[in-house]
Amino acid sequence: MSLHYDLHSHSRASDGTLTATELVQRACAVGVDVLALTDHDSVDGLAEARAAAARTPLRLIAGVEVSVTWNAQTVHIVGLNVDPDNAAFRAGLDGLQTFRDWRAEEIGRRLDKAGIADAYAGARRFASGRIVSRTHFAHFLVEQGRAHSVREVFKKFLVNNKPGYVPGEWATLEDALAWIHAAGGEAVVAHPARYSLTATKLRRLLGEFKDCGGAAIEVVSGSHSTDDMLRMAGVARALGLRASRGSDYHGPENPWVELGRIPPLPEDCIPVWQSWDVPAMAVNQ
Ligand code: AMP
Ligand code: MN
Ligand code: MN
Ligand code: MN
Repeated sequence: MSLHYDLHSHSRASDGTLTATELVQRACAVGVDVLALTDHDSVDGLAEARAAAARTPLRLIAGVEVSVTWNAQTVHIVGLNVDPDNAAFRAGLDGLQTFRDWRAEEIGRRLDKAGIADAYAGARRFASGRIVSRTHFAHFLVEQGRAHSVREVFKKFLVNNKPGYVPGEWATLEDALAWIHAAGGEAVVAHPARYSLTATKLRRLLGEFKDCGGAAIEVVSGSHSTDDMLRMAGVARALGLRASRGSDYHGPENPWVELGRIPPLPEDCIPVWQSWDVPAMAVNQ
């Protein structure tokens, strides 16, 4: 019997809205067999997720989604089967968290200048974990009636050339992969069709990713269209990369992305999990 994999999801440790326990329960309820928790720049939700999964048949994969700057673009690299206690990996994530803290305060200062007071404190209120994300600012600005939806807030305030946008440098591609590999994990390019990169630039990114030992790209993603999926299946095949599948679930407020509700990998893809000994690796204790 083939297992149902969802290898990209978020909890309240970053910008998801469910606790790790609720996320695991929902994964079971919707029929996911193997779930990766991949919070942004944090592994803080993994202990709770693992404890919750131990009470269910779900196999939990310890993951992360690392923020990277490549060629002045933000790119997300998912790490799967990482050891959350590895020192080099943790030091890398700590650096990103420090940058996030500064950036959050700077977003607050810039929004203040644009006439929106107390946004930093407001965003903090929506952040239940260590990570402050633009998503938390978006929740605050929706609450304040500055926009109708999170999407609209991003468009009006939080993207390049808008008042709350703060440019900055995340990890380098090389460092992100080195941290993931130090932690014994495999690296996957998240939602590759979502970046504003030409086909040539995307291939350059994926070429460098492969040179750094990268394993796979998300062919199936909650933010890919069918066309994106087929295109990325072709890219994976052409570059000899394996394929991953993840919803990028953030919580029930986002009704267009449900945990586990993603198409199967196209037949000609080599799944990232092909070489995994799933029952052996996902020891739920
Ligand atoms: P950050 O890592 O703090 O810069 O925030 C990035 C997160 O914001 C992503 O992981 C998404 O969850 C969310 N996000 C980015 N762009 C958008 C958008 N246009 N609409 C809604 N959410 C977005
Ligand atoms: Mn997010
Ligand atoms: Mn992402
Ligand atoms: Mn994500």
